[in-house]
Amino acid sequence: MSTRERVEIFDTTLRDGLQVEGVSATVEDKLRVAEQLDRLGIAYIEGGWPGANPKDIEFFRRAKTELHLPTSTLVAFGSTRRPKGKVDDDPTLRNLIEAETEAVCIVAKSWDYHVLNALNTTLDEGEAMIADSVEFLRANGRRVMVDAEHFFDGYQRNPEFAMRALEAAVVKGASHLVLCDTNGGSLPHEVEAIVATVKAHFRDDVILSIHCHDDTGCAVANAMAAVRAGARQVQGCMNGLGERTGNTNLTTVIPNLALKMGFDVLPEGRLELLTSVSNHVAELLNRPLNHVAELLNRPLNPQAPYVGASAFAHKAGLHVSAIARAKDAYEHVAPELVGNGTRFVVSEMAGKATIKMKSEELGLPMDGAAMNHVIDELKRLEHEGYHFEAADASLELLMRKATGWTPDYFTVESMRVITDELPNGAFTTEATVKVWIGDQRSVHIAEGNGPVNAIDQALRNALLPHYPGLADVHLTDYKVRILDGATATGAVTRVLIDATDGEKTWTTIGVSPNIIEASWQALFDLIVYGLLKLDATASAAAAE
Ligand SMILES: [Zn+2]
Repeated sequence: MSTRERVEIFDTTLRDGLQVEGVSATVEDKLRVAEQLDRLGIAYIEGGWPGANPKDIEFFRRAKTELHLPTSTLVAFGSTRRPKGKVDDDPTLRNLIEAETEAVCIVAKSWDYHVLNALNTTLDEGEAMIADSVEFLRANGRRVMVDAEHFFDGYQRNPEFAMRALEAAVVKGASHLVLCDTNGGSLPHEVEAIVATVKAHFRDDVILSIHCHDDTGCAVANAMAAVRAGARQVQGCMNGLGERTGNTNLTTVIPNLALKMGFDVLPEGRLELLTSVSNHVAELLNRPLNHVAELLNRPLNPQAPYVGASAFAHKAGLHVSAIARAKDAYEHVAPELVGNGTRFVVSEMAGKATIKMKSEELGLPMDGAAMNHVIDELKRLEHEGYHFEAADASLELLMRKATGWTPDYFTVESMRVITDELPNGAFTTEATVKVWIGDQRSVHIAEGNGPVNAIDQALRNALLPHYPGLADVHLTDYKVRILDGATATGAVTRVLIDATDGEKTWTTIGVSPNIIEASWQALFDLIVYGLLKLDATASAAAAE
């Protein structure tokens, strides 16, 4: 057992996090995200607001039988009773009880301005709404967290009422007071001072929780300031999802609390799952809004602290061998602690030392001739417009080929894609691929809503029967750039495609004067790399 002090994590990705534009989740997605959060060891998972929408009612109904959460406690979100209403016939409170979760979180007004103007009632009634609701939920056996909406703004204007609202909740047995920076405008020194005052008032009668939004770019800093002042629960969302600029990013604040501030945040051995869970959640929630969307545009931010693909990437140069000798001199924490890894970024500037480092990172022994070959190829291809820094998977394939490796998963005899405009003005796209796998030839036709989608579909139709693991590999981003004369002769198109298998993400590149050819190169590499990784996983499993 650890003797370190504990800070609980309360995840609100499935409620607050889904307020962000362009993110939508089915009930199925939400159940899968909850499993990932449990895998990471999050203490509380807010499932949604039963009653606010039918999807959330269905979520809690299915959660009862379908969700197995050994670590996390599921929380239903709601609000206090209506002004001048009764708790017994309040629909919101009834929905909360019917969700049958052990814990509930109810939003309450702690800013006098909102009570007087939004609820149109008196401050006494505002206080009674909190007291009655907590009492009712406690009488029904629930653990009750009270979410003090606009707490920091309210406290700045009328501290007396803000504290009365909290007091009403604590007297009736609330377990947690959630201090919310709902508009997201607070700064760390303000949060720290106010939380310290609240802590001095309540001492250990209740657990203080902090809920921040990132409108000043300070959500993580505000959460940490609150913990310094005595908060022992932090609310936030995976990958910083949430309305406007997002909620406190849990993938940043968790390692900060655990590795920098010395708190006990996740159960033993779970922090190492952070990068993987972050990727899984991004994959689940960043699906296209409908099945027509060809490719989506919300991959995990590569520059995300701790979990991003670039978080521990070193642009190789003169210092590369120094980095290799003393990694801790160049990295603020060991990336393995959060399940990430050191990555050396290679470009045409790379010398032998860099290529050697990269080959060691990949576990790919290379002799001097192979290294020289890679350096020459990099120079030649980058001159044509390739940019390998941005395409780690294409680089790995290039390096493997330099050692004499040739991928033999499949060969493509031909590929054709046709786009037609129909008389009604709609466009259709159809791709045909002729593929050999071993000595078996097959022809596959697929439709898509664009050429890349159609080619991807046709190639998958050919490969999936032989390589069923490919079903887990999804394209997550597709970027096109037109490069002009500076680096190449005439205008050429550079295509970068990102993909994920839910655990890792990778990027491939294609360059050609023809956008379809450039896309095809990137897509081809992406599939080959996916098959290579499936092979590696399979042989690792067989070796165990
Ligand atoms: Zn919020």
